[in-house]
Amino acid sequence: MVDGEPEQAAGDCDEILRELEVYLDQELSPETWRSVQAHLDGCLDCLHVFDFHAELRMVISRKCRQDALPPGLLARIEDCFGTVDLEESGADEPGPV
Ligand SMILES: [Zn+2]
Repeated sequence: MVDGEPEQAAGDCDEILRELEVYLDQELSPETWRSVQAHLDGCLDCLHVFDFHAELRMVISRKCRQDALPPGLLARIEDCFGTVDLEESGADEPGPV
C-alpha cells in the first residue's frame, strides 16, 4: 500500500475520458477506478466533465422514474379536479349581492 504522494500513474486526460462511460456505468475494475479517481483529484478539467456527465445521468434516471406515476395518484388528482370543477360550476350563478 502506498499512502500519500500521488504518483504519475494516473494517465493522461484522453485516456481518462475514454473511461468515462464505463466509469458512469460503474463497471470499472477497482484498479482503473482508483487511477481515474487519482487523475480527477489533480485535473479539474476532467473532474468537470465527469461531474457533468454524472449529474446528467442522475437527472435522466430520476426523470425516467417519475414517468411511471402510481395509478392511484392519477385517480386522486382527477378526483380533486373533479371536485373543484363541480364547486366552480355551482358558484357560477351570480347570487344576490
Ligand atoms: Zn485530465
